[in-house]
Amino acid sequence: MTQFDLSPTSRVRPRFGVVGTEFEGDYLLSMLEGLWHTAAELDVDLLIYSVLRTGTPPAFARQFNVNYGFVDDAVIDGLIVLGANLASYTSVTLPFDEVRRRFAHIPTVVVGCEVEGWPSVTVDGYSGFKALVKHFLVDHGYRHVAMIEGPPESSDACERLQAYLDAHAEAGITPNPLLRGRGHFDIASGRDELRRLLDLGVPMDAVVCANDHMAWGCMGVALERGLNLPDDLAVGGFDDIRSYSNARPSLTSVNQNIAEQGAEAMRMLHAQVCGQTPPRDIRLSSRLVRRRSCGCLGLAAANREEPVTDLRGHVQVLMDSMSVPPRLHERLADKMLRLREALAKPDDDQNYQAVLNQLFKLWRGEGLEASLLQNFLLGIQERLLEQLAPGAASLAVGRLHRGQVLIANTADLVGDLEHKTVDDTSNLHLKFKTRVTADILESLLSGLAEGLRALEVRTCYVALYQHPVSFESINSVGLPSTSRLVFALDGGELHPEWCEYEYSTATLLPAAAELAGQTQARALMPFPMFHHNEHFGFIVLERRTQDRFSYEELRHEIAGSLHHSLLVRELDAARELLRLDLERARAANEDLSHIAMRDAMTGVFNRRGFLELAETVMRTARLTHQPMSLIFADMDGLKHINDVYGHEEGDTAICEAARLIQQCFRQEDIVARIGGDEFVALTRSGAADTIAMIEQRLARRFTEYNAASTKPYPVACSFGGYLVNADSTESLDEVLAHADRMMYAEKRRRRSQRQGEGATGGSSTIIADFSPSGSGRLR
Ligand code: GH3
Ligand code: MG
Repeated sequence: MTQFDLSPTSRVRPRFGVVGTEFEGDYLLSMLEGLWHTAAELDVDLLIYSVLRTGTPPAFARQFNVNYGFVDDAVIDGLIVLGANLASYTSVTLPFDEVRRRFAHIPTVVVGCEVEGWPSVTVDGYSGFKALVKHFLVDHGYRHVAMIEGPPESSDACERLQAYLDAHAEAGITPNPLLRGRGHFDIASGRDELRRLLDLGVPMDAVVCANDHMAWGCMGVALERGLNLPDDLAVGGFDDIRSYSNARPSLTSVNQNIAEQGAEAMRMLHAQVCGQTPPRDIRLSSRLVRRRSCGCLGLAAANREEPVTDLRGHVQVLMDSMSVPPRLHERLADKMLRLREALAKPDDDQNYQAVLNQLFKLWRGEGLEASLLQNFLLGIQERLLEQLAPGAASLAVGRLHRGQVLIANTADLVGDLEHKTVDDTSNLHLKFKTRVTADILESLLSGLAEGLRALEVRTCYVALYQHPVSFESINSVGLPSTSRLVFALDGGELHPEWCEYEYSTATLLPAAAELAGQTQARALMPFPMFHHNEHFGFIVLERRTQDRFSYEELRHEIAGSLHHSLLVRELDAARELLRLDLERARAANEDLSHIAMRDAMTGVFNRRGFLELAETVMRTARLTHQPMSLIFADMDGLKHINDVYGHEEGDTAICEAARLIQQCFRQEDIVARIGGDEFVALTRSGAADTIAMIEQRLARRFTEYNAASTKPYPVACSFGGYLVNADSTESLDEVLAHADRMMYAEKRRRRSQRQGEGATGGSSTIIADFSPSGSGRLR
């Protein structure tokens, strides 16, 4: 057994984990109260793992069950498993064997049920529930008592069913086997099952349920069917949930001292971890709590006992009996009168709904329980109807029922049920949501600090994984081993310096937070953050016993906003990548177009490149009234070079010609090879003598080249030039055609000149003319 070690490197005090479903609702809040007060007494920190949110669809089980992954002896010294609570959701939580296997190495106490290998704190619910059923059968004399059981996987459910059967046997009554339904410990299933049983048409004067939620559902159905509680149908439950005990009719139930179970479990685990006592099982007793729903103090009886003639007086009596604060009496009575008016107008359904709504808001706004309102309306209904004309009354009955069902449903929706008031929800919105809406992670986090302070949440850590993980991968390889804090609020102080390093996910908190050691024991709750199929980090929130908001809702808000800002960040990063990609693509395209515009052999522009560039240059030149010059060149005697020295040598000659021409122009001039041995050059200078100067420059360059060349042939060209005036409207084609003509004129001139010379030298002269020595004579 682990002995808690108070070495300087370890935590300042022991820390125990508590595993249960969503820690909201009467049962778990009472449990938490017992656990927490005892933990504070014993100076033990708590880590509360909520593995499933009640009321979430089973599809979300795996999301919340991620919390099982955080149960680790790196961070806790002992574990309390709320077994009865988890067993109610076995279909959606981990089977116990699996839970036990995982936590085998952590000292564990289980609450509410027995699990082999773990010491337990259980309640003798059997005797309490048997007492309840006997009370129905013997004291009230009900003969047709239906039973809504819990799920058969739950040992509590089985125990309570057995108590029902045994109580009947002891009273000498055979229960009708048809009068048995099976629910899931929730309001909806209680409602569904009772509806089903009522539809059978079998005599039934009472219904007992394996828990209060289902009993509450049954009471809703009774309202829906116009049955008087408890005269037409008596109802009993189990758990003695506070809100139902205040309802009207108040629910007869069995108290199983939930807080004391938690307290006992905490004391047991502490003794065990400190090595004081060997583990042993503890069994607490339960007791029957008689209230009105069984008939002990029935509503009808109460109404009869208190004859009041006017509506106001009746409302008054009801409000007194339900401990409605006196300051509300006047307003409620007014609303009741308005409700009566609305009911008297059968056509104006809207008005009725509006009044009902106002009534609900007034009621909830004062922090009163919705279930009370439902019963209040039930109590007032007869009186309202009495005062209406018979025709209107029959219509009003239907409306009243609908109204009550509406309120019941709204009450369900509002939550589990009675801990949140309308006001609290809007508080969360005002205090938190409006602050935590930034797109930018950094401003989100500073908004988060502000929002948490407004909610008086003193401690909150937000940690992210490097990469989100899918739930499938969590099942196979577990949680990411490291995390990084992005937000650390500890005991009211922000610690951005804790956020710099990665730390082990298993510890939930970075060492710095552990070392900071709070002076008082506290309860922290880890919450996984997820979006669809991805789990991307977790939040650890300090839990206080009395908070007027839902932690789950807070988790939802933080995780949602964070996910949003992470997405925005990701989007920004993606945009930046896209921008870089585009830039690269543009650069690559430029290269490509460069290739496409160049002549591969000579490196000067090709025909396409020339046309594209020349168009642009000419357009600009025209706009800026700049004259231009175009030179056309065709190599002389290339065929001869090809024929005599081979095609490759011809290529070389072409390349050399290109190079020589280019050397005679500036960088910004456009030199291109536009045909096999044809070149053009466009230059942005157009003085009257420009062409002549260029031609001289070219002639000189070729002459120099040939003079130095060791080749057996000269490289030579005929040139033609054309001046494009500043106000010219000629097209590029026309300009080219002009230059081409000039070139041919020149070529013809040179050819005839050669032929004239050749009359003495024959054809060989031509060749001789292209010899290095004769090459300079272009004109
Ligand atoms: P002229 O002096 O009248 O210009 O005659 P030329 O021999 O230069 O022939 P012309 O201009 O009429 O025709 C060009 C010749 O250049 C035709 C073709 O055989 C040759 N030629 C065209 N492209 C290439 C090339 O890429 N490489 C080689 N080696 N020869 C080419
Ligand atoms: Mg030629």
